[in-house]
Amino acid sequence: MPRAVYPGSFDPMTNGHLDIVAAAAELFDNVIVAVLNNPDKKSLFSVEERMELIRASVKAYTNVSVDSFSGLLADYTRLQTADVVVRGLRSVQDFEAEIPMAHMNRRLNAQLRTVFLPASLGVADISSSLVKQIAMHGGALTGLVPDDVARALKRKYHN
Ligand code: ADP
Repeated sequence: MPRAVYPGSFDPMTNGHLDIVAAAAELFDNVIVAVLNNPDKKSLFSVEERMELIRASVKAYTNVSVDSFSGLLADYTRLQTADVVVRGLRSVQDFEAEIPMAHMNRRLNAQLRTVFLPASLGVADISSSLVKQIAMHGGALTGLVPDDVARALKRKYHN
């Protein structure tokens, strides 16, 4: 089975992301969770912090590694000799946003296939942005993010 890259902002990693990692780890020999370093997008956690939180969350999966990249995903996947991009789908809105990216990535790298994995029931409503809003207002993060991420969010907002 091919090597897969699961790219994203992961600002921060949620239980929804983790659910996709678990599925991808079963489907592919190797999975690279790749944090996009995008200076145009304001993030709460630095790329290093995000990678560290992902590492802590995926350590049970021996075939999953964590990396970061900047620039085009089509170039990064070529560099990693990965032929599959994994993306999670929560909704029709996700699908509409993802389809043009999948097409464009294949145009830029003809080897590249995007595989969409549906969010599991129970995590389909989780997004990094909602989690940050809840954390900012001191709401309960139980079931939304891994414990390390919950602690890191509390440190960021309520230090
Ligand atoms: P991006 O900015 O690239 O969308 P995200 O960190 O928001 O980065 O998401 C990375 C990937 O994870 C995307 O494919 C997104 O659809 C997926 N994803 C995010 N939250 C969930 C969730 N709760 N369940 C399944 N997939 C999810």
